[in-house]
Amino acid sequence: MTAGASAGTDAYVPDHGDASFSVTHYALDLAYRPSGNGLSGTAMLTCRAEEELGSLSLDLHHLTPSKVRVDGRAPAKFTARRGRLRITLARPVAAGAELTVFVKYAGNPRPVRKRHLGEAGWEELTDGVIVASQPHGAPSWFPCNDRPDDKATYDVSLSVPAEYHVAGNGPAGRPSRSGATRTWRFAMDEPMATYLATLQVGRYVVHEQDGPVPMSVVAPADVGGPDFDASFGRQPEMMAAYVERFGAYPFSSYTSVITDDDLEIPLESQSLSTFGRNFVSADWSRERLVAHEMAHQWFGNAVTLRHWRDIWLHEGFACYAEWLWSEASGRGTAASHAAEHHARLAAQPQDLLLADPGPDLMFDDRVYKRGALLLHSLRTRVGDQRFFDLLRSWVAAHRGGSVTSDDFVAHCGGDVADLFDAWLRQEALPALP
Ligand SMILES: [Zn+2]
Repeated sequence: MTAGASAGTDAYVPDHGDASFSVTHYALDLAYRPSGNGLSGTAMLTCRAEEELGSLSLDLHHLTPSKVRVDGRAPAKFTARRGRLRITLARPVAAGAELTVFVKYAGNPRPVRKRHLGEAGWEELTDGVIVASQPHGAPSWFPCNDRPDDKATYDVSLSVPAEYHVAGNGPAGRPSRSGATRTWRFAMDEPMATYLATLQVGRYVVHEQDGPVPMSVVAPADVGGPDFDASFGRQPEMMAAYVERFGAYPFSSYTSVITDDDLEIPLESQSLSTFGRNFVSADWSRERLVAHEMAHQWFGNAVTLRHWRDIWLHEGFACYAEWLWSEASGRGTAASHAAEHHARLAAQPQDLLLADPGPDLMFDDRVYKRGALLLHSLRTRVGDQRFFDLLRSWVAAHRGGSVTSDDFVAHCGGDVADLFDAWLRQEALPALP
């Protein structure tokens, strides 16, 4: 039945996720009041039982469920405690069966805090909201099976006061207006991990961009000028460079949101990235992150890790994509970035295992740089033609799916297995070829 379900499914984010079922679709119908930070609404989850189910658990933090229905009927019991909504079914469900779980809920959303991971999720800005959920923040705004390997499609609507703009996963249609409220609707038809679901609320205007896919920047009205042109203004060129190297862009649109508040770090969501206004800068240290977040659309969002220990499959690739943009835009070559960062890593402690850095170090800069250096070593070994063919066929084969390091090693072929062993499974820093 569901023994062990409450223990969670991933050692890096304990107590989240339930392996006994999966979710194929989330339909979220929400309303938000910025004054008072009130969120209320309903979630309808289409689920599949992975084993015979007598009960199931959803993740939901700081929000109160008032009504639960399973296949339209009241369950035997539900309890919400310590971030888990546990539902005891009125009658067991057979393995492989489909079921719907409806939850009506409300409350004052705030980020989910974990000791070694910090805060993530729904967070109030000075005037608006950012949702940045990697890796454990999704339950701050909707009941979910919070596992990175459980990808689903989404329909999301959010009603807010009419003066606010909302950005979300997928293209925004025209909002419908009712009195002083506007309702924004988003559809994400490509499978998406829970942590990549987002809503962004602010007093924003939209800059459409003329790129190879529908692209826009959503920002406060006063954001613009030479610093904007030199960074976000180059996104269409960046997109073209990445499409050439990684293959077709995996989603139907790309949105960059620039919040009025400064942010410590930018963050990727599916088909959307979020930056603080402090990232509007002609400086390479900022522009590289505009490139980094865009590259996550292929590596992290379309092709997603099955376990958080394989975070280098996201961050190593996105970091290497920074160097590729540097090369494509006529700044330093990837080889020059590799040499510089190899020297820096060589001067740091070599006590990190790229294949399993541990939850405390999963976002350590060494994971990013060592992952990028692995890819540069692979490129040097096999040559540009085979290297970029490998990247494009990797995305094409796994788009919409979940992967492990072993999958990538197998994808690249037995003749380079020694390279992966040295970079992934040994702590000592290998020499650059
Ligand atoms: Zn990243």
